[in-house]
Amino acid sequence: MQGNMMDVQLTVPTILERIRTQYAGREVVSLLVAGRDEQGNPVPHKHRTTYGQVADRARRLAGGLLGLGLTKGDRVATLAVNSFRHLEAYLGVPSAGLVLHTVNIRLHPEQIAWILNHAEDRVLLIENVFAAMIPAIKAACPHLEHILVLGPTPQPIPLPGVRDYDTFVQESEALTRYPDLDERDAAAMCYTSGTTGNPKGVVYTHRSTVLHSLASAPKDGLNVGEADTVLPIVPMFHVNAWGLPYTCAMYGAKQVYAGVFADGRSVATLLQDEAVTITAGVPTIWMGLLAELDRAAQAGQPYVLGGLERLIVGGSAAPEAMIRAFQTRHGLSLLQAWGMTETHPLGTASGVPYGVDASSDEAFTLRAKQGRTVPLIELDLLDDQGQRLPHDGKTMGRLIIRGPWVASSYFKGEGQSNFFDLDGQGWFDTGDIATLDERGYMHIQDRAKDLIKSGGEWISSVDLENAIMAHPAVNLCAVIAMDDPKWDERPLAVVTPKPGQSVTHDELISFIAPRFAKWWLPDATVLTDSIPIGATGKILKRELRDQYRSYSSTQGLVTPAAPDRSE
Ligand code: ADP
Repeated sequence: MQGNMMDVQLTVPTILERIRTQYAGREVVSLLVAGRDEQGNPVPHKHRTTYGQVADRARRLAGGLLGLGLTKGDRVATLAVNSFRHLEAYLGVPSAGLVLHTVNIRLHPEQIAWILNHAEDRVLLIENVFAAMIPAIKAACPHLEHILVLGPTPQPIPLPGVRDYDTFVQESEALTRYPDLDERDAAAMCYTSGTTGNPKGVVYTHRSTVLHSLASAPKDGLNVGEADTVLPIVPMFHVNAWGLPYTCAMYGAKQVYAGVFADGRSVATLLQDEAVTITAGVPTIWMGLLAELDRAAQAGQPYVLGGLERLIVGGSAAPEAMIRAFQTRHGLSLLQAWGMTETHPLGTASGVPYGVDASSDEAFTLRAKQGRTVPLIELDLLDDQGQRLPHDGKTMGRLIIRGPWVASSYFKGEGQSNFFDLDGQGWFDTGDIATLDERGYMHIQDRAKDLIKSGGEWISSVDLENAIMAHPAVNLCAVIAMDDPKWDERPLAVVTPKPGQSVTHDELISFIAPRFAKWWLPDATVLTDSIPIGATGKILKRELRDQYRSYSSTQGLVTPAAPDRSE
């Protein structure tokens, strides 16, 4: 017997209609580039609008794009920073039945062209600050018929098919009747960063977008409601800014966008001036903010951030030392979340479980893990033979995931080996190595490709990095595998010290030794001025490995003690 409930399709226009009809007065604030100072640095200008205006312009954008002859499923790319205009595209493009393709602006121009061609984008929305790239993009991307420039340019760009976005939106008729959409139709797409092989396209459906927004907002998730003011520092080209533009719109939260201004001082000022309650970004952003908050406090002029309830951190592991530093020095709470492009991205969030004292060491240990699943997401662990492993908090295995906002394949059917059946159900292999404990807390140990395999055993580079980053003289640390004739691979710590400070290998090892078996401890430490960071704010371990793979124990800061395997 079937139930009798309506089969209403879960689609993005329902979100657009909510901001238009219920939250029209709620604000959207964006830092735009007003010009350049003498050093060539961008000067900010604060732009204010409302959800009502965003909805009107999103519907005009939708109408205008269909007026260009685009039809259902056509791709509209963005090369844009976080701002109200990008938000209009988030809502307007899928509401027209088109697919919003957000492209990472930090990629190499050749990779950008490769991705635009692979997705066969017909229209590109490009930020004015990147307008210089337009001729090269046009030449490299034959599918691209129209380019709309977001924000004013000093002169009009005299190329066929290139026009000003604001004028286009103003002159277009608003779409008032949305096309019939199936909730399984494509709404948006993102490419993985291609750390292994070419980037792969992940295509989100309307349904997955709506369900992800519904599931990420509740209290034990990101905790977003109408009374909130949310500043997503995470770029809108990186997994839809973790879905926050949609989640905030669905629940009516005010949105604040920092554009190109993501340094510690700009972020702290914006958090204070706009009374932000929730913000989100990768650990490197929060390290910049922490340094700025410390500086201001020491100068006797602390920022006033009383309403800031949570800083969401994800993208790579948040060191426990950082979580503690924010809490103890500034009374600010970091919530760690985990996910990937293939999971929309929210998979887990790491709150303190019921019954555990939030100020206890146990609470901090749990918050430094990646946390428990949000509803409807399932996780499991497999060994190399595909057998399920115990959830005992100790056994490491390949992390697999399934759920209604997890990819079931890549665009054009690539990378099929990541998707597989287990006991008749579809799963996705995350490529992460993790543990799961009895309460469901997931703890990432490594990306499979970054794991250090020493004498047939696994060493977690993430655990070592987090422990080393708790040392007061350490700014950033990456632990990588170096080749070893006896053990195959051994850990090498690459460390950037804090300005004006230094540290020796022996000091670091004695600092972390109480927490690890002896054979886990790095054999050597390299001090360096900088560690390469990639387009999504993560350490480029592949570059470091290329540089230091055959690092010889006679160089630099070294203790080449043979690992003791007895523990
Ligand atoms: P990529 O890093 O391959 O570009 P994503 O941006 O989709 O792809 O990142 C997904 C990966 O980032 C995850 O598989 C995981 O390894 C890592 N990651 C994300 N959040 C966290 C976190 N909170 N802690 C540790 N690792 C994380």
